[in-house]
Amino acid sequence: MGTRKSKAPPPAQARASMKKDLPEQFRDYRHVWVFMELERGHVHPVSFELLGEGRRLAHQLGVQLAGIILGPPGDSTLHAAAEAFAYGADLVYLVEEPLLTDYRNEPFAKALTDLVAAYKPEILLLGATTLGRDLAGSVATTLLTGLTADCTGLDVDEDGSLAATRPTFGGSLLCTIYTLNCRPQMATVRPRVMRMPQRSNKPIGRVIRHDWRMLEEDIVTKVVGFLSDDRSGNANLAYADVVVAGGLGLSNAENLLLIKDLALTIGGDYGCSRPLVQKGWMPADRQIGQTGKTIRPKLYIAAGISGAVQHRVGVEGADLIVAINTDPHAPIFDFAHVGVVTDAVSFLPALTEAFTRRLAPANRLRLVN
Ligand SMILES: Cc1cc2nc3c(=O)[nH]c(=O)nc-3n(C[C@H](O)[C@H](O)[C@H](O)COP(=O)(O)OP(=O)(O)OC[C@H]3O[C@@H](n4cnc5c(N)ncnc54)[C@H](O)[C@@H]3O)c2cc1C
Repeated sequence: MGTRKSKAPPPAQARASMKKDLPEQFRDYRHVWVFMELERGHVHPVSFELLGEGRRLAHQLGVQLAGIILGPPGDSTLHAAAEAFAYGADLVYLVEEPLLTDYRNEPFAKALTDLVAAYKPEILLLGATTLGRDLAGSVATTLLTGLTADCTGLDVDEDGSLAATRPTFGGSLLCTIYTLNCRPQMATVRPRVMRMPQRSNKPIGRVIRHDWRMLEEDIVTKVVGFLSDDRSGNANLAYADVVVAGGLGLSNAENLLLIKDLALTIGGDYGCSRPLVQKGWMPADRQIGQTGKTIRPKLYIAAGISGAVQHRVGVEGADLIVAINTDPHAPIFDFAHVGVVTDAVSFLPALTEAFTRRLAPANRLRLVN
């Protein structure tokens, strides 16, 4: 079954009548906010993707787009503010406080809910990263407002409500969710689900510094250090230009070396379908698909993957999809750009060898000459 949108018309009348009942205290909520996620001083790219979406929503609503930056005083927050403007924000709300140096739920949730209470946004978007999911849930429950997680589409409805679309029923249907009686309307979006907007060269805008304090004694969580997770080899699949992935068709864990070799040869990263993670053949952060990573590489090579809808939604943003599968009727051939009907276990080493020969320095010189 393919992913499809429900044909039922959205209950606009019902929403319009319910909107009249929007409690008095929410009627002056205006503007679209994007939480700018800082990872050890660097802005997570999902924040830029959300600014692109936020810009479009703000334009439709005729309101302003703001970037929200919570961090320690210093260059990293100012740099994040400049980047927010470069990616389309009209203004930035900035909370600078040493307590906000490393992410902890309590101070970040408190700072963000305090900002919402003070400046009243109608829409608040966060990345569906580990940090964003943790923060969004706390903020939504504290504010008693609606949060739609892992959205794949955001739009403004005819009555000005945020229409937040996400997969449901195991990914076989899409549903659109509205937050009618509370503000802000909150949504999270996974990295790479939305396109990266164009960066402008005019990083200007208004910065509103919000004076905010919290006492360290009131925070239960303490950061004692950082451990690097070397199990996955630092998978950065979501932003890789070339990805090679394997599925159950590869038969056993040893054959995964074939996709790793190919990925290494062509300078790409590697991933897998969900059953391989469930079998313990690969770590979870290498899973691609609805409950794994969404990828948008220039080249995606899928070997022994059937192309179930839950896998498809994570890869269909790739520029070029090459599928290797023994079954000519496998669903992956419905959306792959290039299909190779063959045994991946014997084809992958041949492909790797061909690339190795082609990319060898001597050949590179010959190609240039
Ligand atoms: C709620 C939910 C969330 C899910 N999330 C995800 C997700 O995020 N990511 C994901 O991938 N799946 C996800 N799934 C699982 C998904 O539905 C499929 O079961 C899964 O993608 C199938 O993995 P596969 O293609 O590796 O295996 P299979 O469906 O078993 O396909 C194996 C393919 O390999 C081919 N093959 C066999 N031998 C060879 C060979 N020698 N050479 C080449 N081809 C061969 C077969 O023809 C077949 O097409 C989810 C499911 C649910 C219900």
